Amino acid sequence: MMLPQKILIRGTQINYYFICKTKLWLFSHFIHMESTSDLVSLGKLLHEASYSKENKEEIINNEIAIDFIRKGDVLELHEVKKSNKMEKAHYYQMLYYLYYLDKRGIKAKGFIDYPKLRKRKEVVFTDKEKEEIEKIMMDVESIVSKSKPPKIERKSICKKCAYYDFCFSGD
Ligand code: SF4
Repeated sequence: MMLPQKILIRGTQINYYFICKTKLWLFSHFIHMESTSDLVSLGKLLHEASYSKENKEEIINNEIAIDFIRKGDVLELHEVKKSNKMEKAHYYQMLYYLYYLDKRGIKAKGFIDYPKLRKRKEVVFTDKEKEEIEKIMMDVESIVSKSKPPKIERKSICKKCAYYDFCFSGD
């Protein structure tokens, strides 16, 4: 099942906001291009953004793909991750999904499971988190609306990033 790109893109933007703001900007700009750039292939970017979603088992509201859900008094969304290196990014991406569902009248809780670490992080959505994610979404808009990307700063994740050549081709 194809996911609507808007949801996929917004969730990915929130994730990238915590990983690298240059990546957020580049992703948001290249994704809207007609794909004539030979610096980064749009297909590669879309693949990077969606590969983790393709094999998801559960689709909610026809718009959010998640590893698994539990239906009870309150809907539970569960994402399973190998490591907690990007914990903040995972947390806020889940928070965005809860926000998205809340906007549509669906109350839910989120859980990020790290089976290898025997760890589970609960993501609770209250008015406080709603305010927080709305501020982040505004900040995302502000970064993306700029005509130039934020300053490039090398990080340990850069070598695995789809934009590596773009950022460091002059090195
Ligand atoms: S290569 Fe590094 S600096 Fe450039 S977008 Fe990717 S993570 Fe950010």
